[in-house]
Amino acid sequence: MNLVAIPAFTDNYIWMLHDGSQALVVDPGDSAPVLGALASHELTLAGILVTHHHGDHVGGLQGLRSVLKGPVFGPARENIPGSFTPLLDGDFAELLGIRFEVIDVPGHTSGHIAYCASDVDGTPLLFCGDTLFSGGCGRLFEGTPTQMHHSLSRLAALPGNTRVCCAHEYTLANLRFARTVEPHNAALAEYEARCKALRAEGAWTLPSTIATERAVNPFLRAREPEVAASALAHGAASAAAPDVFATLREWKNTF
Ligand SMILES: [Zn+2]
Ligand SMILES: [Zn+2]
Repeated sequence: MNLVAIPAFTDNYIWMLHDGSQALVVDPGDSAPVLGALASHELTLAGILVTHHHGDHVGGLQGLRSVLKGPVFGPARENIPGSFTPLLDGDFAELLGIRFEVIDVPGHTSGHIAYCASDVDGTPLLFCGDTLFSGGCGRLFEGTPTQMHHSLSRLAALPGNTRVCCAHEYTLANLRFARTVEPHNAALAEYEARCKALRAEGAWTLPSTIATERAVNPFLRAREPEVAASALAHGAASAAAPDVFATLREWKNTF
């Protein structure tokens, strides 16, 4: 299987997975770059996975329906343009012979879902939309900090080698914040240097892995003493993980 990040707008990635003849895409916010990628690799579009209802994730759906030879899967609790197969937590979406399990991850939007396949060429693969970013997480447009903290905890519990396909390239900005929260995290400093070098070459920092995110992402590290201390210094109600998380999310909004 080939995993390709199709750049769209200023910082979106439309993920494509293909086997050389059939492809699936995730969150096509724009149809033009997807049609271009399908044509250049001579691929048939076998299906679409949608994580949530925002325009930069669904704007290309209608423009792809004329070439689509399979289903559109999407979150049962959100409004997605056109007909789609609605999915709930624990449901499965099958495409290209791969079984994606649906994980409810409310917070960024109230019905946001993620798709996780346990074995794609030997390693797990996660499409998490705007819930988990490398070094950060999505803004809370519709959900509460407690919901988002719970959603991220579910993703953090996936196997460490899970490839994390986020929908935006926000990594360097996220890592700048992460370093302020946790200045003594050596793994974070190392990862930031690696990502800076990648961006300087014009390369993607994604996919990340769950193991990397557990090591560097402050939003998954609310229980670490240095993270909790920084949050307490910024007004966290207590050192309990949901309070630390809520403070970090607020703080990041104005960072
Ligand atoms: Zn979004
Ligand atoms: Zn987005």
